[in-house]
Amino acid sequence: MPKIFVTRKIPEAGIKKLLDKGYEVEISKKNGVLSKEELIWALREKEYDAVLCLLTDTIDGDVFDAAAKAKIFANYAVGFNNIALEEAKKRGLMISNTPGVLTGTVAEHTFAMMMAIACRLVEGDRMMREGKFIGWEPELLLGTDLSGKTLGILGAGRIGGEVVRHAALGFNMKVLYYDVSQNTELEEKYGAVFCQTPEELLKESDFVSIHVPLLPSTKHLINKERLGMMKNTAYLVNTSRGPVIDENALAEALKNGVIKGAALDVFENEPMLTEGIVDLPNILLTPHIASATEETRSKMSEMAAENIIEALEGRTPPNLVK
Ligand code: NAD
Repeated sequence: MPKIFVTRKIPEAGIKKLLDKGYEVEISKKNGVLSKEELIWALREKEYDAVLCLLTDTIDGDVFDAAAKAKIFANYAVGFNNIALEEAKKRGLMISNTPGVLTGTVAEHTFAMMMAIACRLVEGDRMMREGKFIGWEPELLLGTDLSGKTLGILGAGRIGGEVVRHAALGFNMKVLYYDVSQNTELEEKYGAVFCQTPEELLKESDFVSIHVPLLPSTKHLINKERLGMMKNTAYLVNTSRGPVIDENALAEALKNGVIKGAALDVFENEPMLTEGIVDLPNILLTPHIASATEETRSKMSEMAAENIIEALEGRTPPNLVK
């Protein structure tokens, strides 16, 4: 009977699929991220055939060694920057992810963040709770309209593309995008305009939203120099991966009025925050929850399980990372 190790409790749907197959499923009992040593220790306990892992697990050669019989590491995320992919390839190990099922949810969260900073929702909520609302005022917490503004999308793949759709159809925004490959569908359907460089996009946009994967080429894609190219009235939203932004440079830019505001769901040294960030009034922070809806997390659980089942039954998993 195949044995599966799950590195942390996830929604039941996928676990049920594995159990229905008659597999032995061992779920880490720790209510938290396993350290590398703890993970290796846990994997050595049994000869596991597959591992269902999370974006908070660092999966490298040492971990692969500890699960020598495993055929697949199924990541419970679309991003897979936590996995040593080349090392896996060398060993003929399969790596899978959960693309697509979370696209709509992350795009909605991105839009929620963008609207929240533009409409100053959190500042307003705080003011109410602190008893500081003394009555309607003509210039209280003035925000910014989205409608008619220019949105710049860095990385117009699945999630970026869905944000483009909301912006163009729902908010009549003009959309610019920068990507390593041109997306003519977004141009034809939503009038999105391709920029040859990130700089071109940053100079023109009132809102910038990041949707690239974390790669060596995207680390610190937003740095001090590029923040300096943005309008001082612009907002930056990041629901991709933290290290895509140089967080120190962002904190400085927000403090000095280089840009107007930012909203982050992901952080450079997660879960730690760069010093000074929490004291800034013009930043909205959410704890890496852009895909966290009941529906989506359940679908991600099922998808990760399906990838494992396909691999263990000798077929190619539908979401194999190449
Ligand atoms: P995707 O692969 O469909 O889209 C990524 C796009 O980025 C592609 O179009 C690709 O061509 C482009 N790209 C790659 N390298 C680039 C570069 N150097 N410069 C410009 N563009 C580049 O992926 P997706 O499903 O849209 O997900 C995007 C990312 O969002 C994931 O990799 C993940 O890290 C992140 N994500 C975060 C959350 C969250 O909870 N906050 C949830 C889901 C996904």
